[in-house]
Amino acid sequence: MSNHVRDNPASPYLSGEQLLNRLQDGAIGIDREAKITFINPAAWQVLGQSTEQYLGKPVADIFTAQPQSPTLNSALIQQCLEQKKSFGPYRRQQLKKSGHQTITVDFSITPLDSTTAVIIFHDVSHLERYDISLNQLPNFDPLTGLLNRDAIQQNLTELHLQHKASGKPYTVLLLDLDRFKLINDSYGHSAGDLLLQHIANQLKQLLGEREYIGRWGGEEFLCILPEVDFETGLKIAEQIRKGIANFSLSTGQREIFTTTSIGVANYSQDGKHVADILRVADAALYEAKRAGRDRISSSREKHGSFLSIATQLENALRENRIIPAYQPLIDLQTGEQVADEALARIISPDGEPLPAEQFIDAAVHLQLVHRIDYEVARQAILRCSNSVLQGESPHPHFVNISAELLRHPQLIQGILDTALQECKACGDRLGNEKPLVIEITEQALLHNLGEARKILAPFLDFGLRLAIDDFGVGYSSLNYLSDLPVSFLKIDGQLIRRVTTEPRVRAIVKGIQGIASDLDLITVGEFVEDQPTVEALREIGINWGQGYYFGKPRILHERFDI
Ligand code: GH3
Ligand code: MG
Ligand code: MG
Repeated sequence: MSNHVRDNPASPYLSGEQLLNRLQDGAIGIDREAKITFINPAAWQVLGQSTEQYLGKPVADIFTAQPQSPTLNSALIQQCLEQKKSFGPYRRQQLKKSGHQTITVDFSITPLDSTTAVIIFHDVSHLERYDISLNQLPNFDPLTGLLNRDAIQQNLTELHLQHKASGKPYTVLLLDLDRFKLINDSYGHSAGDLLLQHIANQLKQLLGEREYIGRWGGEEFLCILPEVDFETGLKIAEQIRKGIANFSLSTGQREIFTTTSIGVANYSQDGKHVADILRVADAALYEAKRAGRDRISSSREKHGSFLSIATQLENALRENRIIPAYQPLIDLQTGEQVADEALARIISPDGEPLPAEQFIDAAVHLQLVHRIDYEVARQAILRCSNSVLQGESPHPHFVNISAELLRHPQLIQGILDTALQECKACGDRLGNEKPLVIEITEQALLHNLGEARKILAPFLDFGLRLAIDDFGVGYSSLNYLSDLPVSFLKIDGQLIRRVTTEPRVRAIVKGIQGIASDLDLITVGEFVEDQPTVEALREIGINWGQGYYFGKPRILHERFDI
């Protein structure tokens, strides 16, 4: 074959060689001996020397050996020709130019005819340059050496634009290691750190050089797979999942294992904007966790439940379809209703209420729970003021304030403003003690007690009271009981359910009641579902009860009175 191939004016069709000459990508022809037989104009431009200088030379001469380079020898070329099989793509390889310069290319080897194979290469130096400029910035995560969150996000934005311009797909994988807390708890934080480093190396090995890997958060990683379609992305995700599941780290006598859940999202199948792609990856990851961990998930599975709940939630917030359901709290001595707890419900567009357990997890995950809390609290306040204005004296209404809501000062202020405004409207019909009780979980308090106290102070000054929710599970540090003016202690349902059958649980509840009495707190048993539990709680001295035995949460709304 000659190195100069002319178009044949007699034929309307282009031969393979003619096609190569017109290609924008570089093409290098090689014979069975792995020697160069032709160079197309695009390759010639890149290499920068006259074509003749390369002809007959071993092709391996112009590629610098890389860790993941194929050996460009006659054995490989013969295999390619005889098996009529392509090899590659090989990512991020170094091609020698004239004057000892190199450029970064991706290439693959394809049989052209029975005697010639062709290396087609694509200059990716611009991507490399981009990485180099990133290297100069403080863009690396010090523990794993991967790109940090800002840098991987910046890469994603950049790559997104490139793919948008070229119309090619790309895939992102969002990984979160499973039950990583357990690793830290069982083997110590430094073993956890070591494992994270090894997992990062595993990822580098499992993915090619061209893929971008970043540490997205503590034990979360984001991988961007440029020009990878959805199907291939799913396969790569599965390889990574397997690779990590099969990996173990030996520390002394122990072997540490972990698994990972992976959310897969694809441009442009799952959206047109970076934010869409990330949201879908995140939702899919959440779904993978929910489905049991150590698995991959994507918009492919019609799990949709989570994605559709996420959408329902957003719509419901926008269309004011979040409303409270009220569940009664009963005085265990008198049997009378003494309070209500306001619990969030989504009303579907056709009027059906969706119970909290079907969307609260999703709301927490999507960081929307503060908006739900806010809505429910606001409506509970209005209910109280309405009944005062109608001449009734409302019993306390308990509303939930999540840790998430504590982090949104504007919404907290909004609740306080609504309470102030409504109380003003009620005037002196309302005494000093306002009928609103703020329920907060131990977890939210433990996170930052000082901060929580500061945020809650104006509420307490105004006469609202404070209840600790889910008491008795989790950490149950009693510290905040001495530091915060708590009025109610709601004992977690997990304990209450076992109070009649397990003497040890009964002893714990008795202990809690003892402390609560000394501190002058009103105790509430949650999840009371039968008469024997009522008897047991009464005997222990628990003040109030709440649960299906007394009444389910009810929606009282002119639109949805069910
Ligand atoms: P799952 O994701 O399966 O729901 O469970 P998980 O235990 O991994 O839960 P989650 O993602 O909520 O918690 C992540 C844990 O990872 C908590 C934290 O202690 C640990 N972690 C985060 N960053 C680091 C780190 O840099 N080093 C170590 N050793 N641990 C970390
Ligand atoms: Mg995590
Ligand atoms: Mg995790």
